[in-house]
Amino acid sequence: MELFRNFHFLFVEKKGFVDTASIIAIRDPDGFTCIDVGGGGEQNIKLTTDLLEEDGINISDINTVIISHTHADHMGAIAHFKSLNPDIIIVDHEEDAQYLSDNKRLNHIFESDLVSRHFPEQSFDVLEFYEAFCPISEAKSDRTVVEGDTIDCGDYVFEVLHTPGHHPGHISLYESNLRALFVGDMVGMEIPFYNSRSGGVEGYLKSLEKYQNLEIDLILPSHGELIYNPYEVLSEIKRKIISREKRIVSALSKTPNTFHDLLPTLFRNQALFIFPGTGILSSHLDKLKNEGRVRQEGQKYFLV
Ligand SMILES: [Zn+2]
Ligand SMILES: [Zn+2]
Repeated sequence: MELFRNFHFLFVEKKGFVDTASIIAIRDPDGFTCIDVGGGGEQNIKLTTDLLEEDGINISDINTVIISHTHADHMGAIAHFKSLNPDIIIVDHEEDAQYLSDNKRLNHIFESDLVSRHFPEQSFDVLEFYEAFCPISEAKSDRTVVEGDTIDCGDYVFEVLHTPGHHPGHISLYESNLRALFVGDMVGMEIPFYNSRSGGVEGYLKSLEKYQNLEIDLILPSHGELIYNPYEVLSEIKRKIISREKRIVSALSKTPNTFHDLLPTLFRNQALFIFPGTGILSSHLDKLKNEGRVRQEGQKYFLV
């Protein structure tokens, strides 16, 4: 759909466990710039290609792809796009480039070592997980950006915001004339995800505050519908995150607890304990320890 003149929002409805992300395509005098390209694998690529074609966009018309962050649902199709159009310039954050060119590094960011420590009988390999639900691919960045950089796309200029929390090299893009903010996965996810290595709970909250300081009429999330009440939604995510911490502190105020005792304070559904539960809980515990509010003795956590 052409949301604004030369500004296409290619909305992907929820369809599975890891939904391929929605895409933005901006027409400029030389073709199109895309923000994200969706997941890899035949099904996702067909979905994305159909959406592009519906709006009259061919992969051969795309000159630039900006990648919000190296998670498969946003960039898994990048190798396919490059194979059809090797001239595409790839742009991502300077901290993201290492994951884009070497997907294996994502296992460190997803803390698969921590999962093995807390669940020795289980393993969590993010590349295997992606392969089953939404294949990923690798590419080399042609241009890396940092906070405050601008990216010109025809009628529009995007300001780059570095917004760690969900991923260390996650970027958001602000268009001040439209008062529109592309937020990637920071807003719109049913379960806001973070762990200590992705920027942590502190990083996530800081990124949300960065958004709150902007003048925004519209949030464009990668998953879910457009958001026309941005400040309400941002406050709600902050509330959700802070309430996780409150539940942990409240459980510890009754009795010292182990990591496994604390997981059900965050999620009722046990299927979420390994992922995303382990990363989220350890990020909160790291924050509370850094603040001197919690200490650990052996397996147990105590309120200070
Ligand atoms: Zn993501
Ligand atoms: Zn996503």
